[in-house]
Amino acid sequence: MSVTVRVPAKVNVQLAVGAARPDGYHDLANVFLAVGLYDEVTATPAEELRITCEGPDAGQVPLDRTNLAARAALALAERYGREPAVHLHIAKDIPVAGGMAGGSADGAAALVACDALWGIGASREELLEICAELGSDVPFSLVGGAALGTGRGERLTPLEVGGAFHWVFAMAGRGLSTPAVFREFDRLAEGRDIPEPTASDDVLRALAKGDPDALAAAVTNDLQPAALSLFPELAETLAAGRAAGALTALVSGSGPTTAFLARDESSAAEVAETLRTSGTCRTVRTAPAPAAGATVV
Ligand code: ATP
Repeated sequence: MSVTVRVPAKVNVQLAVGAARPDGYHDLANVFLAVGLYDEVTATPAEELRITCEGPDAGQVPLDRTNLAARAALALAERYGREPAVHLHIAKDIPVAGGMAGGSADGAAALVACDALWGIGASREELLEICAELGSDVPFSLVGGAALGTGRGERLTPLEVGGAFHWVFAMAGRGLSTPAVFREFDRLAEGRDIPEPTASDDVLRALAKGDPDALAAAVTNDLQPAALSLFPELAETLAAGRAAGALTALVSGSGPTTAFLARDESSAAEVAETLRTSGTCRTVRTAPAPAAGATVV
């Protein structure tokens, strides 16, 4: 018997970052949107905890207990007094270290898969608590759709989405480390007054209306200057997508994946095709949003 859980990637349509706190973390106002690019995690009973991974980026995924899927299984097993005797196989389609919360997605998926495999039946609140301990993006991977994250991003308020949004994602030739991007944000912020991060009403209204033009005009990412500073070539990818007709182009989360919002599905296909031949990125994918959170398939 085994359980497979499908889990989406995310794009941040707003990422407002506050000044570094004394503990080094940053307060965030983070509007997450789940997009239809998925990993699948399959949990099967085994002698002991084991992780395997397949997919184009599989070589970059740790297969030890630092893998977020392993950490999720261990956290669940400890909390409910089970043996973490499970084989977790990750079919990875979400780019690794791309700012699309791929590791977090696998953590949420492993949690849901092990909960079902072990017949625990933990409540959504209990699962969300474990997710928040695993990392600030993990709770959103569990719930999907669209949500406002505050605090470190882990306190979630679900948001209404009034229609489909068509996205194009360009994956870069190398990754960017999220902590490194935050360090660069701090360096660039030195001597400047950083306002308290707050959710943008324009972003929330555009999501609720399902209006791509309004969303394109409202998206922001405070980490984008830091990501561009560490990875200047991304500016060329952004420019290529804009020239191809994207309504807007932005760095996805901490990058280096770049995200392009298109008016509709056919425009997304055109933007994707132009980006593919632009020579400014490694691979290109299209994905609709919103997507459901971690779901047993
Ligand atoms: P975020 O958008 O949440 O900042 P990301 O999408 O940029 O994250 P991930 O793909 O989650 O980045 O990977 C970041 C690092 O986490 C990887 O380089 C890898 O070492 C580690 N990692 C741990 N577990 C996983 C996993 N299941 N899949 C991918 N990376 C993982």
